[in-house]
Amino acid sequence: TTTPRVALVTGTASGIGEAVVRHFRELGHQVLAVDFNEQAQEKADAVGAAFFRADLTDGEACKAAVAEAIKRFERVDILVNNAGIQHVSPIEDFPEAKWRQILDLMLTAPFLLSQAAWPSMRAGGWGRIVNIASVHAQVASPGKSAYISAKHGMIGLTKTAALEGGPQGITANAVCPAYVKTPLVDNQIADQAKLHGMDEQEVVEQIMLKNAAIKRLIEPHEVAELVAYLASDAAGAVTGSSFNIDLGWTAQ
Ligand code: NAD
Repeated sequence: TTTPRVALVTGTASGIGEAVVRHFRELGHQVLAVDFNEQAQEKADAVGAAFFRADLTDGEACKAAVAEAIKRFERVDILVNNAGIQHVSPIEDFPEAKWRQILDLMLTAPFLLSQAAWPSMRAGGWGRIVNIASVHAQVASPGKSAYISAKHGMIGLTKTAALEGGPQGITANAVCPAYVKTPLVDNQIADQAKLHGMDEQEVVEQIMLKNAAIKRLIEPHEVAELVAYLASDAAGAVTGSSFNIDLGWTAQ
């Protein structure tokens, strides 16, 4: 049995975040789904989650999201930092505004959300921060400088939160997936095809699954299961760690 908790999950309109919200609801958790895309409202309604609209590149919106969870559910026990975007371009041409947007959304927002949720987790003597990083938090690929920098940074944030949270019952861990079947990857297939002058099938086989021992994309629910474990009571001794769910990519 799972103890019901209050979870705040970001980036819930599609993909991994949507799967995490659904799975948390199945486990009986109360969930505040946070996204800037109105489609996330319908997705949240469908599984009985609450929804808060926020553009997480805005620091005030991050704080408002946590305040909303506390207003509705009186606390935050679990924070899943999932919202993310990609932009593929060589460093030479990489737009500064895109770099800043990616760092704001994927590194600063997880920091601000952790900071805002911290007092509630500390007061309860129990907290779980699960950061959705990436195989690109462990290794690099060309064309993704901002994403890879943000994800590597997220591992540093995770480790620091683990050290600070240890005495307070708060754990922090990262999940590092390779390519998951989501809209983010559909867009990347198109971008990579352009970057490398390939067709889309070639991109999947020759680029996305090149380093994979298991030659298929990952399903969002497979990531959600790992997130649920890290957010559970059973994972109380697990902190500061990164969990690869990468089809064997980093085994070589
Ligand atoms: P997705 O595009 O399906 O979902 C991303 C979500 O973030 C969307 O709901 C989107 O609306 C939301 N979002 C984007 N910008 C936002 C903003 N400014 N404010 C609030 N919400 C915003 O993507 P996904 O593939 O499910 O990715 C989720 C996370 O998993 C990301 O952090 C991504 O880097 C990571 N990840 C994905 C893969 C993959 O292959 N799909 C692999 C490794 C890591």
